[in-house]
Amino acid sequence: MLIAFRVTATCTFQFSPGRTFPTVDPRTGEVIALVAEGDSEDIDRAVAAARRAFDEGPWPRMTAYERCRVLLRFADLIEQHADEVAALETWDNGKTLTQSAGAEVPMLARCMRYYAGWADKIHGLVVPADGAHHAQVLHEPVGVAGQIIPWNFPLLMFAWKVGPALACGNTVVLKTAEQTPLSALYVASLLHEAGLPDGVLNVVSGFGPTAGAALCSHMGVDKLAFTGSTGTGQIVLELAARSNLKPVTLELGGKSPFIVMDDADVDQAVELAHHAVFFNQGQCCCAGSRTFVHERVYDEFVEKSKARAMKRVVGDPFRNGVEQGPQIDEEQFKKILRYVQSGVDSGATLLAGGDRAGNRGFYIQPTVFADAKDDMKIAREEIFGPVQTILKFSGVEEVIRRANASHYGLAAGVFTRSLGAANTLSRALRVGTVWVNCYDVFDAGIPFGGYKMSGVGREKGVYALRNYLQTKAVVTPIRGAAWL
Ligand code: NAD
Repeated sequence: MLIAFRVTATCTFQFSPGRTFPTVDPRTGEVIALVAEGDSEDIDRAVAAARRAFDEGPWPRMTAYERCRVLLRFADLIEQHADEVAALETWDNGKTLTQSAGAEVPMLARCMRYYAGWADKIHGLVVPADGAHHAQVLHEPVGVAGQIIPWNFPLLMFAWKVGPALACGNTVVLKTAEQTPLSALYVASLLHEAGLPDGVLNVVSGFGPTAGAALCSHMGVDKLAFTGSTGTGQIVLELAARSNLKPVTLELGGKSPFIVMDDADVDQAVELAHHAVFFNQGQCCCAGSRTFVHERVYDEFVEKSKARAMKRVVGDPFRNGVEQGPQIDEEQFKKILRYVQSGVDSGATLLAGGDRAGNRGFYIQPTVFADAKDDMKIAREEIFGPVQTILKFSGVEEVIRRANASHYGLAAGVFTRSLGAANTLSRALRVGTVWVNCYDVFDAGIPFGGYKMSGVGREKGVYALRNYLQTKAVVTPIRGAAWL
């Protein structure tokens, strides 16, 4: 089946007379659809539409309660169309339908309701100042927000970006990842159906160096929010700085430690550590991809982790009971296998997996390395695949030092029965999120973002609102000016 989408500035799509690119089913490598390829001219048009909608349109001018109701209607429509949304996400991305339908579509709806709830609670304050004057401090929308998202969680990234931006009264140009353009196009049409005025959300499918770079450099964009790799984040920041100094928030990569203390229930620790790294085919920015295990439980943990990985069900993500689908595309597939080879070459012990699974599509066997050393590539770099790297440690101070010895600082997991150890580690780890005896808990109200080269700023929760608001002080005399 070949479908061509064209996205216009008003969230409608039709056949494109212009350039298209294929989006591919990662189960087979076959083309699902041809999608209109937005370039810098399309970005110009989308920004112009967003600008008009912001400067002249109803969205920033309507009551916040009306904005709230549009977002609530959108959440209802997501639930009414949950089957289509989930299927599209699994088809284009390869994640299991259980995950798309059971977690990501509900989280998209939840995130929209969360920010709908904020829309009419955003207000400033009054500063008494010097006694003769006071200042109203107004929180106003920033204007046109440019947003760039990756392919690993297309719907969630849509939610985290679009939710707070719209709740604050901004208009948006969103560039999707070239690997996964479909679900955002579909849900954008639902948002339009929910009553979002024309020009408020403009989804442009296209590639990074063309459409993405044009959005970052655009003089008509007032704020930029980017999620993707650290290398691209650096380019984005530079483009923003060299154009109009638009403020930028960045959600970038990670190499997160998952720390198993010696008092842990080993079976539970194995299961959670497994989930922390293998969830979403290992394609998580916050994957717990450095599994640090205390020497007293190390041997048992390693044996059981191997057994757990070998039991992991890999297969068609649409099938019930499948835990792991294919990787997103051939490029990632090959990159992961290169990392596996580097693990073997550098002397880590390969306990499970290490090869492709099947002979079609982009499936990789759940792979476990033990006896890894901190300076090995597989322990330093983001693999973004189903590869667990287990490292041994012998004390709290040691593991803190080693866990923090990374340019990344996105997240960490701590598994222990000791409140003292949990508190010590939580405070010492230089990361944006510490999950204690849990992992990957992503409620819309919890802020998310990175220390160090894992990012700038926070998404979700009340913190995300700050990304999309300007602060204006209006100073007036309290009793009228002397010269009037
Ligand atoms: P990527 O950086 O290659 O691409 C991300 C987005 O940036 C895509 O839309 C892409 O088209 C665009 N892009 C690429 N080059 C660009 C350029 N020159 N100018 C502007 N835009 C450009 O990353 P990816 O491979 O798609 O995603 C995986 C990365 O994203 C991983 O490093 C992962 O850790 C990170 N990630 C981070 C978070 C987080 O919240 N911290 C969440 C998800 C993914």
